[in-house]
Amino acid sequence: MSKIHLTHTGYWAGKTLCESVREEGDSYVHAVYAPLTNDEWRKKVCPECLKLYAELAYEDEDLETAPQWVIASRAGIGLGSH
Ligand SMILES: [Zn+2]
Repeated sequence: MSKIHLTHTGYWAGKTLCESVREEGDSYVHAVYAPLTNDEWRKKVCPECLKLYAELAYEDEDLETAPQWVIASRAGIGLGSH
């Protein structure tokens, strides 16, 4: 099944967050440019990439301003996979 992976920018540009091997049919989007606040779009994203991004992209002190899905992910509550 095809899904969207999030990739790093900068030094690790092009590498997926989950470090999966590139597969035909999958898409790759730079995490910083990804429309992750769009619930419909986010459902197509690799859960492993999402989880890692939620942990990497926000410091604990930034969580007040973080999107709801990031807070939920870091709290270990589902990833919007319902
Ligand atoms: Zn992935």
